[in-house]
Amino acid sequence: MISFNLICRNDHEFEGWFRNSADFEGQAKKQLVACPACGDVKIAKSLMAPVVGAKDTVRARRTEKAEEARNVRKMLGEVRDYVEKNFDDVGDDFTDEARKIYYGESDERPIYGNATDDDAKELAEEGVPVGKLPWVKPADS
Ligand SMILES: [Zn+2]
Repeated sequence: MISFNLICRNDHEFEGWFRNSADFEGQAKKQLVACPACGDVKIAKSLMAPVVGAKDTVRARRTEKAEEARNVRKMLGEVRDYVEKNFDDVGDDFTDEARKIYYGESDERPIYGNATDDDAKELAEEGVPVGKLPWVKPADS
């Protein structure tokens, strides 16, 4: 998995996770990538430079890469923990519930659950802010 800095037509910058560059291109072309701020599906890679560490030698970079992979994994695990503790698990009702909250028919609260790519796209088109997380299994290191 790699992350890209993405930008929509309204200049919102956000981060997206993809298997590789081609994966991003494919999803963007099919308009499966939506801006979390405004739902725009015309997304491009931002020209923002990637962040690099100070130890800019090849060897240091290799070590950093391995460490980075571990850190990303750990971070994703922490995100998962945080979401599970603080968000309301609505399971397969996610699409309905996200819509109800957006239209004020349900209490506003952070929720998480399952949605198909089509559902997520529909929500984005309606302007409902949804985001996708790469879900890692806890503690399988
Ligand atoms: Zn936007």
